[in-house]
Amino acid sequence: MSRWFSERFAALAPYTPGEQPQDRQYIKLNTNESPFPPPPAVAAAAAKEAGRLALYSDPECAALRNKMAALYGLAPENIMMTNGSDEALNLAFMAFADETRPLIFPDITYGFYRVFAQVNRIPFTEIPLRDDFSVDERDYLVRGRTIVLANPNAPTGLSLPLPAIERIAAYSRDNIVIVDEAYVDFGGESAVRLLERYDNLIVTGTFSKSRSLAGARLGFAFASPALIADMNTLRYSTNPYNVNRMTAAAGIAALENNDYFMNNCRLIRETREWTRRALEAERFTVLASEANFLFAADKRIPGKTLYEELKRRGVLIRHFDGPRIREYNRITIGTREQMEVFMTKIREILGGI
Ligand SMILES: *Cc1c(COP(=O)(O)O)cnc(C)c1O
Repeated sequence: MSRWFSERFAALAPYTPGEQPQDRQYIKLNTNESPFPPPPAVAAAAAKEAGRLALYSDPECAALRNKMAALYGLAPENIMMTNGSDEALNLAFMAFADETRPLIFPDITYGFYRVFAQVNRIPFTEIPLRDDFSVDERDYLVRGRTIVLANPNAPTGLSLPLPAIERIAAYSRDNIVIVDEAYVDFGGESAVRLLERYDNLIVTGTFSKSRSLAGARLGFAFASPALIADMNTLRYSTNPYNVNRMTAAAGIAALENNDYFMNNCRLIRETREWTRRALEAERFTVLASEANFLFAADKRIPGKTLYEELKRRGVLIRHFDGPRIREYNRITIGTREQMEVFMTKIREILGGI
């Protein structure tokens, strides 16, 4: 740390992104990207915009928001487009949480929540998941808090049924409830339909996972027009051109090809269930994921060792060193062929111990 770095951030522990090593070709099952490329029309749309890079992008993202509104059955005023959904989450935290409304979220969840709370100096409480890693909805029936839930949760993959989300939003209309639906296209139930009844609800989503655009950085928030306007006040105070021209064009083309992506999600779900059965046949404990990854552990081998042994064999998965989860690994679902290689390596490693 230089002697000029602000004291305010001296204790900040930044988010650790999953590794993106360049030393060799890995089967990458560590950052929940899609194994399928976007269709050629998406790359073509981005390439076409590349010719107009001298001009700023549309800060309103009007064309993209109109397409989103049509697809999700919302009005454009219900939608804000962002540079990945990470930005949507950060803006929501900035806008709707502070000393008077501290944040609460599970102890095991997306690591960025704690970082965004710290960088914005918002007090927060991490609520332990149950021993089976499920969220106990009663922990969120509280007043005077801003609530954040990933649904499905990460890295567990477990989801809360929609009625539980509704009871949490209904319990105190003074609380803002942020539901992070980064993985909802892989099986969970979206809270989008609750928006018309709950003006204290924010739903965030991303094109990074189900729509194969992690590298383009495109996310969104859905909420009442008043909440969207507040978040836009902060967006226009930080980075109004947050979605670049090529990404906005890629996003529009992606929505025009939505069936392709939803079909990929179906393939990924099938491959997830195939992988689950294969891991269970090897006596792994596997959580009931509704996302594009599995969270799994095996008593015979420490989580970190399994991660390291797979990496030596050219397969990357994600290991988190948290106290309750260090025996587990998060395994992104790739293509069926990739998962067959993964299982072959697993059997090889287990056979050798
Ligand atoms: C991947 C992910 C996000 C956001 O990713 P972006 O690439 O910034 O859209 C948000 N929440 C969870 C739980 C995620 O796993």
